[in-house]
Amino acid sequence: MSHTHVSDTLPVPPELKEILEDGENIAVITHVAPDGDAIGSMLGLVHLLRERGKVATPVCQDPAPYQVNWLPGVHEIQHVIPPDVDLLVSIDLSDVDRMGEPYDREAFGHLTLVNIDHHATNTLFGTVNWVEPRAVAACEMVYHMAQAFDWPMSTRVATYVLTGLLTDTRGLRTANVNARVLRVVTHLVELGAPIGEITELTFNRKPLSLIKLWALALPHLHVEPEGIIWTVITEAMRRESGHMEENDGGLVSFIASAEGMYVGVVFTEKEGTRVNISLRSRPGVDVSQVAFALGGGGHPQAAGATVEGTLDEVIPRVLQLLRESVRQQVGG
Ligand code: AMP
Ligand code: MN
Ligand code: MN
Repeated sequence: MSHTHVSDTLPVPPELKEILEDGENIAVITHVAPDGDAIGSMLGLVHLLRERGKVATPVCQDPAPYQVNWLPGVHEIQHVIPPDVDLLVSIDLSDVDRMGEPYDREAFGHLTLVNIDHHATNTLFGTVNWVEPRAVAACEMVYHMAQAFDWPMSTRVATYVLTGLLTDTRGLRTANVNARVLRVVTHLVELGAPIGEITELTFNRKPLSLIKLWALALPHLHVEPEGIIWTVITEAMRRESGHMEENDGGLVSFIASAEGMYVGVVFTEKEGTRVNISLRSRPGVDVSQVAFALGGGGHPQAAGATVEGTLDEVIPRVLQLLRESVRQQVGG
């Protein structure tokens, strides 16, 4: 094994400090159908800003998913941007449409928009853009920001930040976890973030309805000769299982872990008119570009998109794009 030194920090744009310090009434908004990193980074930043004396409001179109619904403060999340804000910050969000309904361009387009994100497919839609694909989570960026600005982190903020970092790395099990990330985790635990409790509540606890949904979806598993494994979640399966939350609870990562497979896909039917596509891949195969071509985005190993059409229309089209992409990347 080679020994590589990984820097402890990620660079933070110095102008960001002044922009945030100049704001008095700040909305922090994250993406529709939020994951743990979306909720953790938004609440973490909101509380950091409040601890600096700001009025700060967390905003998200949709409620927190079950993984993080135990976090203090999730019930404070607003579904609209307060009309009197003077600064907008978007976090964990790769394009402007991912803000969903709360972002009314007529009402808020004139405000400075700070775009803080770690997706390589980020479209740089902000007035100021801090996009850091080396960060394993938007939460990691919140951590480095607090460090760079000498803003002390409370146990509460450390808990939000660690929770989001752990969810985006599936409990430190993604290929991008390195010594820097482990040092960040160590520091957050030293600040009081209860790592055991976070793991228990976030990873070792699922709604029974979700297990039932997996049971309904797994019989529809398909394996393509190109090393693509996929299944479907229909509206009918969601009704039968009782799991209506927009969250596969890790089904796509589970099927993608099958040996010999390059890509895992879950197609989720949405109101019969759209399909949500969730993609995972092995290191060495990048699925973010196919997701981006479909109007979505993501990371090399985890990406997604929402496409207009029925399952019957969307599945063959997406599988074709994935076959071509896998062939190009792995040869053959
Ligand atoms: P998921 O499969 O929903 O866990 O999402 C995996 C990654 O893809 C996350 O980083 C998301 O931010 C990104 N992603 C998922 N769906 C979309 C979408 N509709 N548009 C843009 N990015 C997406
Ligand atoms: Mn996210
Ligand atoms: Mn993220």
